[in-house]
Amino acid sequence: MNNSKYEVVIGLEVHAQLLTKSKLFCGDSASFGGQPNTHVSPVTLAHPGTLPKMNKKAIEYAIKLGLALNCDIEQNNYFARKNYFYPDLPKGYQVSQHTTPICKNGHLTIKAGDTSRNIILNRIHMEEDAGKSLHDVDDKYTCIDLNRAGVPLLEIVTEPDLHSAEEAFAFLTELRRMVRWLNVCDGNMEEGSMRCDANISIRLHGAEKLGTRVEVKNLNSIRNVKRAIEHEVQRLITIVDKGEKVIQETRSFDANNGTTFSLRSKEEADDYRYFPDPDLTPFNITDEFLKSIKETIPALPEELEKKYTTVFNLSAADAAVICSDKESADLFEAIIKHSNNYKSVANWLMGPVKSFTNEKSIELADFPLSAKQIAQLIQLVDDGKVSFGVASSRIFNALIETPEKEPLQIATELNLLQESDSSLVETWVDEVLAKMPDKIKEYKSGKKNLIGLFVGEVKKVSKGKADMQIVNKLLADKLNN
Ligand code: ADP
Ligand code: MG
Repeated sequence: MNNSKYEVVIGLEVHAQLLTKSKLFCGDSASFGGQPNTHVSPVTLAHPGTLPKMNKKAIEYAIKLGLALNCDIEQNNYFARKNYFYPDLPKGYQVSQHTTPICKNGHLTIKAGDTSRNIILNRIHMEEDAGKSLHDVDDKYTCIDLNRAGVPLLEIVTEPDLHSAEEAFAFLTELRRMVRWLNVCDGNMEEGSMRCDANISIRLHGAEKLGTRVEVKNLNSIRNVKRAIEHEVQRLITIVDKGEKVIQETRSFDANNGTTFSLRSKEEADDYRYFPDPDLTPFNITDEFLKSIKETIPALPEELEKKYTTVFNLSAADAAVICSDKESADLFEAIIKHSNNYKSVANWLMGPVKSFTNEKSIELADFPLSAKQIAQLIQLVDDGKVSFGVASSRIFNALIETPEKEPLQIATELNLLQESDSSLVETWVDEVLAKMPDKIKEYKSGKKNLIGLFVGEVKKVSKGKADMQIVNKLLADKLNN
């Protein structure tokens, strides 16, 4: 198979369920799950004579994401009806935005190794979700759950601007971080609150015209999007290499064996008979509303990562871990209000704090220590009062048990304060060296890694209380002279 002959072209359509409390056009709960058909008022059921009412929060969230993704915001909007028959769509049409997507253009920056690239967006529009057909509840009938019908969605559509399965993976990972960062969608692909269709084609390198695309649906994880694209690219190459024609079709991904199969061919354009929904008045987004939303957008991960690497001199890897989600970046920002040892703050966050939350399976938001307490722990180490090892295990654990105490108090009570009185430390060092004349000889004749043994012995003799900086200095003085 000849991969290098062809350029891969991918465009993604991502549906993100908004984290509003209620649905897009009525007060029914928009939350996931719930007993089937319990979030269903007459509006959701499309009873004749019911009228939709717009959810302002959904518009706010759409604009928020649009601004964060550098889009132009459409200020004159209307909703359109997209007509089609579907069993889990009681109205017989889906309310969507047709010619006035609320966000246009824009881009999302993805990173691949050291380079980053802007992936161009075509649009983001608002629409309502349909209900869910359940085919595996009953052996004779398909059951319908309308809880999801009318839940607000954003459809984020990229230009055909991605060129590999890895780029698609990076794009979705970044987009998920962004929707979570802004708290507009929970980004959970497994539960279906973020869904992705991948449009894939290939063309000869240098060709101008796009190849015929296939659209792959039912991708319930970012990893599966990558697997589906990898499979599909190879399938398309085989077809084109044989001189055969690619048919435009919709395919489904089978996660069990990593392959795709045809759902329907899509040779004719669908005719949805779009028209402006007469039950919903067109709506304008005022400059003031736009400005008020802009003010709620927090510092974005890209900007923070840049600050951490350039201003705080952290490594790109550290900055990326801190900014992997907003909770972690928020905690980092809170700790550095009390400490300017940025590297230590990063280490504490990625080390003891993350280990603790992982071990206890808790969210960072429920971490029991305050930012100030973590900064105090760092200060104890920086002041040479305790070693990092002692601070991150014994004091850290004791502090979690009795968070009302101060770290220094705990260190004192547990008799953990490091001895930095040089003359006392020297007696420990001398005691150790006196016991090991042979080892000293070996050290002096070149076995320099014996230093670890001496250090370890001093630790033991001092019961971990000797200030290691002083120990190292004394040992160096004594052994090298
Ligand atoms: P539709 O609404 O019929 O699915 P669109 O023209 O809106 O079609 O495109 C949907 C997605 O498919 C977009 O992300 C777009 O970038 C992508 N796309 C369109 N043509 C191609 C192509 N030839 N190869 C790959 N992706 C494509
Ligand atoms: Mg499509």
